[in-house]
Amino acid sequence: MNNLKDYEEDIYKCSRCGLCQFVCPVFKASVNECAVSRGKFNMLNGVIKGELSLNRKIKSYLDLCTGCNACKDFCPSKINAKEIFIAAKAQYYKNNKISLKEKIVNSYVLFKTALCCAFIFFSVYRFLRMDKIIKKFEKYILKTGLPGKRLVLLNSLAHTQYNQRTTPHNKNNMQKAVYFEGCFNKYINKQTENAVKKILNNANIELIKKDFECCGVSYLNDGNIDAFIKIANINLEKIDCDFDYILTDCASCEEVLKTYKDYATLPNAQKVCEKTISVVDLIKKIKFVCNKNLKIAVHKPCHDDYDFIDIVKNIDGITYVEAEDFDKCCGFSGKFALQNSEISRKISKVKAQHYIEKNTDIILTTCPACILGLNQGLAEIQNSQKPEVMNLFVFLALYCTPTEY
Ligand code: SF4
Ligand code: SF4
Repeated sequence: MNNLKDYEEDIYKCSRCGLCQFVCPVFKASVNECAVSRGKFNMLNGVIKGELSLNRKIKSYLDLCTGCNACKDFCPSKINAKEIFIAAKAQYYKNNKISLKEKIVNSYVLFKTALCCAFIFFSVYRFLRMDKIIKKFEKYILKTGLPGKRLVLLNSLAHTQYNQRTTPHNKNNMQKAVYFEGCFNKYINKQTENAVKKILNNANIELIKKDFECCGVSYLNDGNIDAFIKIANINLEKIDCDFDYILTDCASCEEVLKTYKDYATLPNAQKVCEKTISVVDLIKKIKFVCNKNLKIAVHKPCHDDYDFIDIVKNIDGITYVEAEDFDKCCGFSGKFALQNSEISRKISKVKAQHYIEKNTDIILTTCPACILGLNQGLAEIQNSQKPEVMNLFVFLALYCTPTEY
């Protein structure tokens, strides 16, 4: 991994044109120059020259970023801001005394304990059918202000639209795919995994389950590289069998698994990078027919490509509508939403407004964090007609039939 100093030339390429202000969701919501790449590059330039010290304050400005990459795509110099911010944050962890709060926030043991508690909590929550009850009274709960919005958001994690289990077909010559289920499927809500199993059941693929850890996305984005390498190595160690693919249904997990080769020390990291594919890659040639005439819009996660949108556009029987900024950041981005709740909610609200204007029935996406972001935005808007936010695979399993494999 590169040090901050290695990016000196890239930072120097910034002409201070300010174009990144037009696309940065955090800048638009906060109007804070420290939020946009140009402002951060100014600070990092000072750090490299020794005029500024990379302290907690500067780290907090670096954290004012959803990692959406919009600035990189729009920047005339094509500067990879996200990569530079990660290198700078890694330097911060290396050179500074870490506070107790940071140690607690970054502790993987605590993170895993929290996930296990979440698993128990959501299992009991669903057993008591709280997800259905809260969904039914959502309109009234939202009127109670921020606590109500938080409860509705929590409920969107638990709410299950698809819960059928599929018994896998056993055929000869099946391809072997190691399924990287991700934290959301493993600890919070299994509906996407169940839907993926149903969709792939006729696709001649045997799914191999392993007891994986989190992919490590929040540690990587936070620049906590030592913790990230540890997690990456644990996951790579678990891939000890023959496989044709590493398969994931989450756009974030896919992106992170492909970066293992740049950080992890285990020799299979390169193969894992080359063989990691998303469920979208496997099903993009399948034609689906929807059994309901629904008005469907999509939200493209920042780290996903446009392939899944082609799948949606090709579904027979639906009406596809394109919302403004459908491919722009939803404002959630995991830890960012926790650290910058107000800005995150502002970004999500603007996003949600575009879908309400289109009067769409359902918004489809492929990332669990984006589902939260979109629901967070919808919770900010008082409107009786709100679209439902769904994972693409859950929608396909619930409402569609594949015509051929
Ligand atoms: S768009 Fe690129 S070159 Fe222009 S100010 Fe932003 S980072 Fe610098
Ligand atoms: S990656 Fe996105 S949020 Fe971060 S500075 Fe660039 S445009 Fe702003």
